[in-house]
Amino acid sequence: MSISEKWHGIDLTEDQLEMLNLVRDFCAKEVRPNGAKYHESQHTPASILKKAAQCDFYSSDFFLQLFSDPTGLTAALAIEEMFYSDAGIALALFGTGLPASAIVANGSPEQIEKWLPRCFGTAKHPKVAAFCCSEAEAGSDVSNIRTRAVYDEKSGTWTINGIKHWITNGGISDVYVVVASVDPSLKSRGQASFIVTDGTPGLSAGRHLDKHGFRASHTGEVIFDNVVVPGDQLLGGKERLDKRLARARRNESSGEQAAMATFEATRWMVAAMGVGIARAAFEYARDYALVREQFGKPIAAHQQVAELLADMATEIHLARLGVINAAQTYLSTGKLNRAQGSMVKYFASELAVKATRNAMQILGGAGYVNEHPVAQWHADALLLPIFEGTSQIQKNVIASVVTGLRIR
Ligand SMILES: Cc1cc2nc3c(=O)[nH]c(=O)nc-3n(C[C@H](O)[C@H](O)[C@H](O)COP(=O)(O)OP(=O)(O)OC[C@H]3O[C@@H](n4cnc5c(N)ncnc54)[C@H](O)[C@@H]3O)c2cc1C
Repeated sequence: MSISEKWHGIDLTEDQLEMLNLVRDFCAKEVRPNGAKYHESQHTPASILKKAAQCDFYSSDFFLQLFSDPTGLTAALAIEEMFYSDAGIALALFGTGLPASAIVANGSPEQIEKWLPRCFGTAKHPKVAAFCCSEAEAGSDVSNIRTRAVYDEKSGTWTINGIKHWITNGGISDVYVVVASVDPSLKSRGQASFIVTDGTPGLSAGRHLDKHGFRASHTGEVIFDNVVVPGDQLLGGKERLDKRLARARRNESSGEQAAMATFEATRWMVAAMGVGIARAAFEYARDYALVREQFGKPIAAHQQVAELLADMATEIHLARLGVINAAQTYLSTGKLNRAQGSMVKYFASELAVKATRNAMQILGGAGYVNEHPVAQWHADALLLPIFEGTSQIQKNVIASVVTGLRIR
């Protein structure tokens, strides 16, 4: 493949450039101009999802295309560009990526082939999917999950009971990937992931949650009341689960945990979101600072404002390189062993908060009113150090790796 253009100084192949142009064109037309409207209304942008599906920007093929580039660049640039455009709408379009990643990380090849397309629906009838891990009493502490899945040997089915909280696309999805405990005595090592489809008796939507940011992305509760699923909807299958449980009971390490495998696969993606939000704020603030004059010169020429811009540009550049490194490692080896996922998620999430906050500062009063988007972007950014593992949890993971101690 020939190298044809650069993206922030990074060489792109023709395929990567094609993806960049597809994402940029769609986002410039459909995402950025509608960000404020959906933030205000807190409605799911169904018409944008439909348009995305029609131009193959939302499909299982598109998802697989992003993650089949072992250099990590295709996924990194697509996620950054989407979240640069508008984080709320981007999550409405990309939220299905979390359950899709869980299926890819935990499912058998047959399950991936069967369920991945169903997560996204068709070009005519696009659908969304949800990853249901968190519960009211189990956020950071995933080992405390109370949702139970009980196996019935006779029918070969599983019965799931529990309530999931704060679920992206929870209540509006066609496919739910549910993390449940199959052996509570083993804590997180006794958990497994199941597929539950919309319309299954006992599955229902709980409250739709009103949010501070990311308001175009639907967040809700999901209730499982004696939901019965066939045995082949256990991701990875019963044989693999039984072996894993047996190893856990013998206290042997397996490295496999249902929720952890998903978070491992997605933390660097949250970091890419953070880079996108930070870059949006940086560019907006820089452009404003070049035209806004105080004391007879553009505010960008005042050293303290210039310094804020220099810090933002430097940190965004380094965070982007960290994302690409983690994406490349994960997509080429299937693993992130040295806490790279946690490091880059922590760094880029906090950067998004800092960059949007400093963008508001650079805009002064204009930054605080909603005629400019930076206050909304700050509200969006504040989610990143919270979901998919808080910054504190990421630091526990990093500290555990660098010290060899079990830090909790
Ligand atoms: C908009 C939104 C979308 C979400 N989407 C999903 C989704 O699709 N699927 C899903 O499963 N979940 C989802 N979540 C849930 C999210 O992952 C959790 O909110 C997050 O993991 C934190 O859990 P918690 O809210 O219970 O906070 P808590 O665990 O109660 O943490 C509260 C505070 O205590 C700190 N803390 C806790 N334990 C430790 C420790 N050991 N060391 C140091 N500090 C600690 C935390 O860092 C935090 O500051 C979403 C949340 C939100 C807000």
